[in-house]
Amino acid sequence: MTSRDAFFQHVCQTSDSPLALEVTSARGATVYTSDGRSYIDFLAGIGVNNVGHAHPEVVAAIQDQAGRYLHAMVYGEYVLEPQARLAEALARVTPPPLSRVYFTNSGTEANEGALKLAKKVTGRRRLIGFRNSYHGDTHGSLSVTGRDVYRDPFLPLLPEVDFLPFGDLAALTGIDERCAAAIVEPIQGEAGVRVPPDGWLSALRRRCSEVGALLILDEVQTGMGRTGRWFACMHWGVTPDVLVLAKALGGGMPLGAFVASDAHMASLSVDPPLAHVTTFGGHPVCCAAGLASLGVLERERLPERAESLGGRIRDALREAGERHGGVTDVRGRGMLIGLELDSGDRTRRVAERCLAEGLILGWTLHSDRVIRLAPPLNISEAELDRGLEILELALRTAASPG
Ligand code: PMP
Repeated sequence: MTSRDAFFQHVCQTSDSPLALEVTSARGATVYTSDGRSYIDFLAGIGVNNVGHAHPEVVAAIQDQAGRYLHAMVYGEYVLEPQARLAEALARVTPPPLSRVYFTNSGTEANEGALKLAKKVTGRRRLIGFRNSYHGDTHGSLSVTGRDVYRDPFLPLLPEVDFLPFGDLAALTGIDERCAAAIVEPIQGEAGVRVPPDGWLSALRRRCSEVGALLILDEVQTGMGRTGRWFACMHWGVTPDVLVLAKALGGGMPLGAFVASDAHMASLSVDPPLAHVTTFGGHPVCCAAGLASLGVLERERLPERAESLGGRIRDALREAGERHGGVTDVRGRGMLIGLELDSGDRTRRVAERCLAEGLILGWTLHSDRVIRLAPPLNISEAELDRGLEILELALRTAASPG
């Protein structure tokens, strides 16, 4: 049986139309497939490979750590050098007082931990989510995810969760003294790369503080330099009580984290101790990869690069839209960009044409009219230009259907 046959016969399928590229290797911003083709990657594994695929420093760190030890003990018991060093390095870039890190294996697990932390710190139960949000597919994260179509098959979920409209100032009064936390993506990713109006995130911060609810910022997709700052909340000068990370955190390895203050995190070690533990969270090989990746982001000033290149990409897309029509919006921050077209059909045709021409780009879960662009932050200028040429070609050909 070929790998392709095994994939279709034995790997659980999550849709009836997987991209099914058969990857043989991937380096930097290029993915190579078994049919001898190569693709420029404008999606980076959906915002994971911020330092590119298989960055040599990340690979070396993985090899080095694999030669020392793999899993040694469940989370929180032993001093594992890569884990401790990564927590220290993260605390350098997260805004104070967020300096204590709990490592998980994924984004959804990090959100689960953040929600439990909020309940423990406040002694309250009520949670606030936002419409069209996405926080992951385990039961707790799904409970605060604001899209019925993904929730309905799994009801009942957590009780006492209410959803407010994203970006709506007046609605913030819905957060009250019964709330343990409000959880929000500072820029909604799966909703179609939605940036809130200026002032909204700080108003949300103020409201949470007023009523004593924790503010949890889910930066799984927006963190680690993606939007032109280390964390998207920095665009608005907002510091959450809990910052949630994953995706790019592990440099291509599975790793998530929630980060909070000493005072808040102290509640997780008492009443009872060991009430929030994990076997694999903060795996030493993943942390070694994360530490190497963070080093590259820092040294090569990739958050700043995301800011400047992102602006250039958005300008190029707007100009291409003016030339060929069909583009209704270009939005985002840094190198997390949403290209909104005027119909689901045109969106599909543009994405298919790009793939046929050797450019990978993405969809978003909650919108069929938005193409997501999230290239590696260190993509070369030449690859970026070539990718934009392909996109322009696809917009031109999609302007004349058939
Ligand atoms: N939060 C956000 C904002 C996300 O974009 C995602 C993944 N798309 C998640 C949480 C879930 O992360 P994971 O798939 O690692 O569980």
